[in-house]
Amino acid sequence: MSYKLCEKVRQLEPYEPISGNYKIRLDANESYYNFPDVIKNEIKNIIDNVAFNRYPDPNAERLVEPFADYYGISPENVTASNGSDELLYLIASAMLTRNSKVIVTEPDFSMYSFYSYLSENQIITYRKNDSLNIDVDELISLAKVENADMIIFSNPCNPTGQGISAEQARKLVKSVDCLVVLDEAYMDFWDESLIREAALYDNLIVLKTASKAVGSAAIRLGFAVADKTLTTALRAVKAPYNVNTISQEIGRCIYSHKDILNSRRQDIIENTARLYKSIKDITDNYKLPFKVYEPRTNFVFVESDKAGEICEFLLQNSIAVRYFKNAGALRITTGNEKENKEFLVLFEKFIIENILKRNR
Ligand SMILES: *Cc1c(COP(=O)(O)O)cnc(C)c1O
Repeated sequence: MSYKLCEKVRQLEPYEPISGNYKIRLDANESYYNFPDVIKNEIKNIIDNVAFNRYPDPNAERLVEPFADYYGISPENVTASNGSDELLYLIASAMLTRNSKVIVTEPDFSMYSFYSYLSENQIITYRKNDSLNIDVDELISLAKVENADMIIFSNPCNPTGQGISAEQARKLVKSVDCLVVLDEAYMDFWDESLIREAALYDNLIVLKTASKAVGSAAIRLGFAVADKTLTTALRAVKAPYNVNTISQEIGRCIYSHKDILNSRRQDIIENTARLYKSIKDITDNYKLPFKVYEPRTNFVFVESDKAGEICEFLLQNSIAVRYFKNAGALRITTGNEKENKEFLVLFEKFIIENILKRNR
C-alpha cells in the first residue's frame, strides 16, 4: 500500500476548542443562557413526536418559517444549514471554482480562509485599518483591481467586535460585480443589518446562526438569506438532509418565542456594555497601554502585549477566554453578571500583581 494523503490536508490538525473543564467559559461567544423551562418542556413534547424513522424535510420549512418571521423576511429567501459553518464550506466549494479569487479581511473569522484553502480558491487578504475596521472604498477598489469573485467578512466582526454601517455595506454590494457574503452572526447585538434587503440584490448572501444570540449552539443551525437565484443554487448544492429533524423542530420552537429571544438579546447587550466599561475603567485607571474596543457584539476585544500571560493566568483560575497570538489580543465573551464580576476581579488582580509590581 502506498496511499498518501493529498498535500493540502497532510499538515492539518483537527479543530481543538480550549479543552479542559473550566468553571467559567468566556471563550466561544456562546450565550450564557440555556433554554428556559417553557422551552425545555416544549422540547420534551417535540421529542415524543419525532418520526425517527423518516428523513428530515430537505427544505426545513417548519424551521425556516418562524426564522423568517422573526427577522421580517420571506421564507423563500432562506436556506437552512447544519450550523452556518456548513454554509461557509458550501459557498467556498460549490459556489466558487478552483482558483476563484476570494477576498477575506484580516483580522476576521478564520474559517473563511480555511474553507477557501480546502476548496483551492485563491485567497486575497485585505488588511483592516488601525481602528480595526474596513474602509469600504478601499475594499471596492481591491475587488476591482483583483477582479475578485467573492468578498466575505463578518459584520460585526469576530474577533474585533467592530463593524461597518448598513449604508457602507450596501454601498459595497452595489459597487462590486462579485458575490458579497456578509456574515451577520452577531448582528442581533447591533442594528446595521442588510438581512431585510438581501433579496433585492443578485450578489449578496447574508448569513445567520442560532449559535450566538439565540443560544442554540448545541443544535447546529445556520441560515443563508439571499435572492431566489442564489437560494435555489444553495439549496441545490447542499446535502439534501443537512439539518436533522430534531434540530429543525427545536429551532422552530426557539424562533417562535420572540419575546424570550428579544429580552435575552437586550440583556446580553447590556451586560456586554457593562463588561466593556469595566475593562476600560480598569485599564484607564492604571494608565495601561491596553486598547479596549467598544463592542457591537457579545464580546470585548482587548489588545495588549500581556494578552498571552493574562489568558494563562485566567485559565489557571478556571476562567477561559480566547487569546489571539498574532493579534496580541484577548476576546472576552460576555458571561452573566456573576461570571463577568469574577473575570474582572482576576483581570485586575493580574494587573496589580504582575504588571504594576514588576514595573516598580
Ligand atoms: C460563531 C460564528 C459563526 C457560527 O457558526 P455556527 O456554525 O453557526 O455555529 C459564524 N460566523 C462567525 C463569524 C462566528 O463567529
